Amino acid sequence: MVLSAPSGGGKTTIRDQLLRHDRRFRFSVTCTTRAARPGEVHGRDYYFVTPGAFERLRKAGKLLEWARVHGNLYGTPVSSVAGVLRKGLIPVMTIDVAGARSVKEIFPEAVTVFLLPPGLKTLVRRLRKRREPAANIRIRLETAKKEIKEASFFEYLVINDKLDEAVRDIREIADIECMKISRKQAEIKRFGRELLEFKI
Ligand code: ADP
Ligand code: 5GP
Repeated sequence: MVLSAPSGGGKTTIRDQLLRHDRRFRFSVTCTTRAARPGEVHGRDYYFVTPGAFERLRKAGKLLEWARVHGNLYGTPVSSVAGVLRKGLIPVMTIDVAGARSVKEIFPEAVTVFLLPPGLKTLVRRLRKRREPAANIRIRLETAKKEIKEASFFEYLVINDKLDEAVRDIREIADIECMKISRKQAEIKRFGRELLEFKI
């Protein structure tokens, strides 16, 4: 489950609620060269790495995708996603729009969701609430102009107005996606095998 949004769109908030309320989901931790913000924990929020270590991971093919966002490098370790999938859980990836495109190319079975606040005023208010300096807000809104042009690439749009409703929407998307025939091949094969072996 790939969640993307302009900065301030609510990726982190929605992800935290989703993980709290639905045990099917597990966050696939990504790595970044940016400094940890107060309260962020290495291994929980991000793997905070040096630019050198990031480069080594990238060259060794250990990143599923990577991108430069607002001057810092970010990348999804293959091991993070594989570890969650191995447990039979749904990896939740909160990555930028370019990253979402890369993941979808590599993993066509990924589900891509674009989050938007109900309006621009709300987005700006939420960015201010996060105490972003004015310069940061300006940069993030400039980036948002490019990101919004990519919205039609995503399969689902969720409006992040009321938090609990946005979280419910994402859980419903997972419910529907899990029922798709393309994700049910193992069950169908098992039923077919039982039918072949069945004797009245
Ligand atoms: P992102 O991770 O996409 O940059 P955040 O999750 O940090 O966005 O959200 C930006 C700000 O908006 C945070 O201060 C968060 O508390 C607030 N926020 C997010 N979703 C909602 C919501 N549905 N209602 C009210 N405030 C919200
Ligand atoms: P922040 O620094 O605010 O935590 O994140 C900045 C942006 O980078 C957000 O849009 C976030 O979703 C994105 N991001 C975080 N990790 C990754 C990643 O591994 N790959 C990509 N492409 N983007 C990421």
